[in-house]
Amino acid sequence: MYNPTQTVCAISTPPGKGGVALIRLSGTDAFAIADRVFRPRFGDAPLSARPHRMQIYGDVMLDGVAVDDGLATCFPSPHSYTGEDTVEVTCHGGLLVSRTVLEAFLAGGAILATAGEFTRRAFLNGRLSLTEAESIGDLLEAQSFSAMRLSGAQSRDRLRAEIDSIRASLVSLMSSIFARIDYPEEDLGELTDTESARELLKVRARIDKLLTTYRTGRAIQQGIRTVIVGKPNVGKSTLYNAILGEESAIVTDIRGTTRDVLSRTVPFGKVLLHLSDTAGIRESDDPVERIGVSRSREQIERAELILAVFDASAPQDYEDQEIIDLIKTQQKPKIALLNKSDLTTVIDKKCLSEAFDYTISLSAQNSEIDALRSLIEDLFTDGTLVIGEEPILTSARAHASLLRARDYVNCAIEAYASGFPADAASSDVELAIGALGEIDGKSVSEEIVADIFSRFCVGK
Ligand code: GDP
Repeated sequence: MYNPTQTVCAISTPPGKGGVALIRLSGTDAFAIADRVFRPRFGDAPLSARPHRMQIYGDVMLDGVAVDDGLATCFPSPHSYTGEDTVEVTCHGGLLVSRTVLEAFLAGGAILATAGEFTRRAFLNGRLSLTEAESIGDLLEAQSFSAMRLSGAQSRDRLRAEIDSIRASLVSLMSSIFARIDYPEEDLGELTDTESARELLKVRARIDKLLTTYRTGRAIQQGIRTVIVGKPNVGKSTLYNAILGEESAIVTDIRGTTRDVLSRTVPFGKVLLHLSDTAGIRESDDPVERIGVSRSREQIERAELILAVFDASAPQDYEDQEIIDLIKTQQKPKIALLNKSDLTTVIDKKCLSEAFDYTISLSAQNSEIDALRSLIEDLFTDGTLVIGEEPILTSARAHASLLRARDYVNCAIEAYASGFPADAASSDVELAIGALGEIDGKSVSEEIVADIFSRFCVGK
């Protein structure tokens, strides 16, 4: 059970052998526990009486025995990661050594931290907003350089600053509206209704701008569900492997080798793809293959991007046409990939370009996938956004709250346009402020907070 008054500890480095392991201790008794457990090698003063933020060399004691030697650092509240008194000990990075050092701190009076507890404490102590905490979770999971930049400190600061600033504009607008309602006779230099409405339009434009960044943030951070379709033997598995950069699907020249759906998440340029290589869609008497075909259809329905592969070295036939018919009504980007461009091209390119939004000639076998990578980046990200430098929304939760904030701002704008009294607009502005407050965690339920931190690892 989560209890912020207790002092917790955990191994913050991954389990396994390494140069060093880091054990973190946080809470009101962190210094007292560290003084009981860590004995500095030189001088008599206990650890907590030594200069803070400086590494002190000493021994970790368990049952009167020095179980390891290492470096300990005290970070006094509130200037620590969690905002509480925190001690970090670096010891030798063996599995047993680090566990024994942890054991020593547990024996000294600390309890084991739950998943994400240090970050959760940082959030509860106002050191991080909820969006920043989520970004830290994303940073640990980042699979591409862009995703890493997007969840890094600079990006987190920019997003928080933008949301804080939008919220501050609404708070200031609301106090102005209230002043006019409360003191209608006084000229307090407050905004007129027209000016307030104009202010709301500016806020809405800023919210809209931030909302448009979500498309990019989502493609980079959460990924695009992508399905590869095509009749057997056109090179779907070869393309899948080329994107993955390794031999992960079996490539053969026997028709129908890929019987089921293979799925992997892979960084592709700036974005992340949740890639599924499907069985050929042709009708078959083989029951196993039939199940594969029906799963392929499900994947097509769920996908956000369809890559349809054709063998450009052969004329288009009825099987290719079946694929085209199957996907033509799908309202999502569809890219026709004319594979085997290293051989003589026979397929009717013009006919295919009429059926598809985009067509690319490539040789999957020769890993010619640069044009495909650029096209996907163009389709799913805004190339004008400088990743890591501009505020970019990545979390579905923050996006939903921002959409709600915009709806309330719209209602307030309408209230002014319809000539309703100012207090009608003020209650919508208040709701918009509340919705923005959910983004940084000022007004979210305990359940949501618990859910977010449960996805972290222990020690973070
Ligand atoms: P799938 O059934 O659609 O998954 O097709 P595969 O990826 O298993 O490939 C079928 C055959 O086509 C294999 O022999 C591949 O080596 C070959 N192939 C795939 N891509 C290319 C390509 O770009 N050029 C040439 N010449 N052959 C290819």
